[in-house]
Amino acid sequence: MEHVVIVGAGLGGVRTAEQLRSGGHRGPITLIGAEEHPPYDRPPLSKQILSGAWDAERVILRDKPALDELDITYRLGSAAVSLNGTTVGLDDGTSVAGDAVVIATGVTARAIPGQPGAVWSLRTLDDALALRDALDNSRSLLVVGGGFIGAEVAHAARARGLDVTVLEAMPGPCERALGREGGALAGRLFTESGADLRCGSRISRFVDAHTVELADGSTLSADIVLVGIGATPELSWLAGSGLDVGDGVACDRTGRAVGAAGVWALGDVAAWWDDVRGGRCRTEHWTTTVDQAAIVARDILGLELPAPSVPYVWSDQFGLKIQLVGRPDLADNVLQVIGDGLDGGPVRGTVIGYFAGDRLVAVAGFGAPRHLPRLRGLVATGAHRGTVLSLAQELIGGVV
Ligand code: FAD
Repeated sequence: MEHVVIVGAGLGGVRTAEQLRSGGHRGPITLIGAEEHPPYDRPPLSKQILSGAWDAERVILRDKPALDELDITYRLGSAAVSLNGTTVGLDDGTSVAGDAVVIATGVTARAIPGQPGAVWSLRTLDDALALRDALDNSRSLLVVGGGFIGAEVAHAARARGLDVTVLEAMPGPCERALGREGGALAGRLFTESGADLRCGSRISRFVDAHTVELADGSTLSADIVLVGIGATPELSWLAGSGLDVGDGVACDRTGRAVGAAGVWALGDVAAWWDDVRGGRCRTEHWTTTVDQAAIVARDILGLELPAPSVPYVWSDQFGLKIQLVGRPDLADNVLQVIGDGLDGGPVRGTVIGYFAGDRLVAVAGFGAPRHLPRLRGLVATGAHRGTVLSLAQELIGGVV
């Protein structure tokens, strides 16, 4: 491959460029990014940026001199508007022709129909910096959606002493990721922080940017209303490209876009074939994006591919790290393997195992970072319940 054009200058885009260079690619690389900022990292936006612990510089993954070191041509502040074969059209009317194109355009925050423009969401560095200022100057926050981002924003607001209300449509927060039991534990973190968590609550409409109406006709108002109900893949620029785009760019198991020679996609925007599920799925996880960038770069270069890794995601909520390894959605039963959070004991230190029959498919740790690395190995091998429980006993006893 000669010229590789990467569209999307976020985590996946910059990691692909790095991996191409470290894999020996000497040809030109062009990195196209819609935002003016150099590539930056998103997990700290809802954590260290909102808390005020970091300034904006700390989230930059590679500044312009560091991109120059990689010998990359970058077009920041330039949005791709079309894809024709392996030629990318830009919003200034120019185009960039590559031999290979890598799509890494991520996602945008999902909005509720009728959502006023002044309602907040959190996706970009600019969103985070503005939200931090708003939190500093407000007394109340209403979060619509109790997922990871909603939880992290609620935490930042509670840490400042704001009154926080969280509306979650499901029976518990973070349930989509953590399942019913994990969601119940996460819910305790909200309420123990003093947030008013209302599960099974849906809004019927926005009265204005500060007030929502609930299904029962009652209204809730706050200085800041933030919607965190998930994200949709950034595909609008691919209309007319001929790519198979449903929920994400349909790809095979190495990120090659289905039916499009010379085009790969990765990260939040891509729906890769997953042998375990027997279907395509999109994963909005930091580590998955990094792994996929390595696979795509090596596939472009014709190098041996790394072995697939176990999915991992984390979230920092209310002073505690939640870590999830594996695929809870494959489980048909759940067991508390360490701690007693599910029995009303402290959430901190609790670890839940998710099983398909007797085989471990995922673990979730709540403030248990010491234990996760060993348990992660058991998820990778699909360990038997008995093996999981004996390792858990050893971990509790401090034997390993
Ligand atoms: P992104 O990093 O989003 O980059 C996509 C880039 O493409 C963006 O810069 C965008 O501007 C650009 N772009 C879009 N359209 C175009 C276009 N038409 N032309 C050119 N450029 C375009 N994951 C975890 O595992 N743990 C966490 O704790 C965690 N916390 C998070 C907190 C926040 C606030 C957010 C927003 C995400 C978090 N994530 C977390 C998810 C993680 O950051 C993503 O999985 C990761 O950033 C995906 O990388 P990406 O390259 O696919 O997309």
